[in-house]
Amino acid sequence: MRSVRFVTFGCKANQYDTQLLRETLRRRGWTENREADLVVINTCTVTAEAGRKARQLIRRIGRETPETRICVTGCLAESEPEVLRELPGVDWVLGNGEAKRPAHFLRQIGEEVDPEELGIPSGITEFAGHTRAFLKIQDGCNKTCAFCIIPKVRGRSRSKSADELEVEVRGLLANGFHEIVLCGIHIGHWGLDLGQNLAFLLRKLVDIDVFDENGSPRPWRLRLSSIEATEVIPSGTGDSVLAVMAEAPDRIAPHLHMPLQSGDDETLVLMNRWYTRKEYLAACDLIRGQLDRPAFTADVLVGFDGETESRFVNTLNAVHEAGFARLHVFPFSPRPGTAAANPRSLSSPAEVRDRRARLSQAASEVELIYRESLNGARETVVLEGWTGLSGRYQRVTVRPEDIEGVPPAMIEVELEVERNDSDETRLIGKPMGVEEALSQ
Ligand code: SF4
Repeated sequence: MRSVRFVTFGCKANQYDTQLLRETLRRRGWTENREADLVVINTCTVTAEAGRKARQLIRRIGRETPETRICVTGCLAESEPEVLRELPGVDWVLGNGEAKRPAHFLRQIGEEVDPEELGIPSGITEFAGHTRAFLKIQDGCNKTCAFCIIPKVRGRSRSKSADELEVEVRGLLANGFHEIVLCGIHIGHWGLDLGQNLAFLLRKLVDIDVFDENGSPRPWRLRLSSIEATEVIPSGTGDSVLAVMAEAPDRIAPHLHMPLQSGDDETLVLMNRWYTRKEYLAACDLIRGQLDRPAFTADVLVGFDGETESRFVNTLNAVHEAGFARLHVFPFSPRPGTAAANPRSLSSPAEVRDRRARLSQAASEVELIYRESLNGARETVVLEGWTGLSGRYQRVTVRPEDIEGVPPAMIEVELEVERNDSDETRLIGKPMGVEEALSQ
């Protein structure tokens, strides 16, 4: 029996791609094992660090177990195939186009493929080691942000059809998942190539009902992964993601990860982003007007080419104004092959360190304010034991004394902010009644 080990770097889309290959090989009798015959390394190239770690791992496997065959896939395989092919132990370097179609992947690694296998389902049915399933709805991106290599290595947006995705969602729900995270490279571009839009897909998916063996409806929800603020709100007269979220608050988590990148208009232009600080903040206000205390999370880049102290302060202020529930702060590192590969005016490492620290401090402050604003809010929590992740992306604890017997997988609660002697807060979920939670 042949064995495989998967190692995944990077984003949710990459994790989905790995799961697709995992199920492809498992159907053919492969087992998963740490000491495997084949190691598939699904790489990322979004930062220089991600590439360095992947190369380091490949070298280590090649050195320690030279008999292991190595297949490198993913974005690094797309951006530097020649470098990877030279590394010891590497047998295959498969770019994103070659590795993402199961039959193609099998042929590349020397497996015989029966003609009927060409119709192998191109979706996943589970998500190894996770309580939430990541479902990739599209790949690629039609934008050209100056710091980003992704459009070069993933190409333009290609969407999976709404019918295929419905089948995939039903399969994941049947296998017990309570939360499905719709992910991709630029999910707001879903449907552009099909003459549809993301709101259309969401309307189709929120209508899916699943039932347990007693015929009772089983609660479940969708969550959107990263989506641009300008693609949540209505543009023109068409349907919008926000409209569907407002109509189905129990089916779509009120959490939006909307990359900010910078809160300074001049920097946004240099980054080739397409919105102003005012437009981003106006989108937050509009969403807040339609959803109950939505959680906004975001990415911000520090030290981008041309960043001055006053430009940075604009970003710092925008973080306070947006009122994020969580902020991810990344230092800018120029990537070869991008428009910002040759910066002209970089801040010093000490300045970048200082700005990162100030942004992280601001993030802690706004995160606390947001958490405290949730006192009394109704939430659904996907539990793993006595704690779990709420729709608003908060870790919530349920007390054993509030529940009879084993905790359910998903429960509706009212939130209570609890503060300890050291002034740290945590969120307690007071069950609204398991019966009620299950009857959603
Ligand atoms: S929107 Fe910009 S940052 Fe996001 S994947 Fe596309 S080019 Fe990269």
